[in-house]
Amino acid sequence: MNDVATPHDSTALVTGANKGIGKETARQLADAGLIVHVGSRDPERGRRAVEEIGGRARLLVLDVTDPESIAAAAHQVGDLDILVNNAGIMAEDAPAPESDLDAFRRTYETNVFGVVAVTNAFLPALRRSPRPRIVNISSGTGSLAWSTDPERAFAFSRGAGAAYRSSKTALNALTVYYAQALESAGFKVNALAPGLRRTDLNERATSADGDPAEAAAGAVRLALLPDDAPTGGFFSWDGTTVPW
Ligand code: NDP
Repeated sequence: MNDVATPHDSTALVTGANKGIGKETARQLADAGLIVHVGSRDPERGRRAVEEIGGRARLLVLDVTDPESIAAAAHQVGDLDILVNNAGIMAEDAPAPESDLDAFRRTYETNVFGVVAVTNAFLPALRRSPRPRIVNISSGTGSLAWSTDPERAFAFSRGAGAAYRSSKTALNALTVYYAQALESAGFKVNALAPGLRRTDLNERATSADGDPAEAAAGAVRLALLPDDAPTGGFFSWDGTTVPW
């Protein structure tokens, strides 16, 4: 697969880009010369991130759980080539039998319904792009194959509850459905397992776990996929395929 020849002509939106993996993804896209809408539900936090990122980054106030906020953001953004659905929460880390239904609902509201709402709102703009790309920031903990693999059980003994993990499994399914529905329109829709990263979301991560920048590089790779690249896949940050 070759890199896209002209990323400078492209415009990207990264949701939840005021910190963590989202901010790093926005930074790397801006460094590559793209116009980057830095999605942030809090204007002040977003403004600070935009200043830090520099380049052609600009603030887009966007709460992925708020239909009015999504509509206003979609109205504000004219052209769009790349949507990175990064905003996500881990509302609790309880196993399924101990799950709190409210936490479950909040998790799905952001990690699943938020992605559908944002994606659908920005589809008209993406459809006008010559090279539309959607990157869904998922998680290896959403892989049912890995979850049932005894070799990997260690990775999941460190937390990440049923609500979070199943929300990412649902996001993986949506990745396939969007990819299938949009393939004939030239879209590449893929999911990323960013690996365990030290961020506010992941208190389980230790100093031995990876930097968000490394995960962001994986997101950028999927964001800049060439036309002969796969769609509807699940990839690790290092480009290897993750089993569903
Ligand atoms: P952070 O908590 O650092 O960042 C999460 C971002 O999402 C923040 O900018 C946050 O904004 C934003 N966000 C949360 N809710 C909303 C909302 N309703 N509307 C808009 N933005 C929102 O976490 P990470 O960077 O670690 O997480 C980024 C993605 O990576 C998530 O989807 C996560 O599930 C995934 N991931 C992370 C892993 C890790 O080890 N860190 C591993 C696997 C997957 P605010 O600052 O306002 O809260």
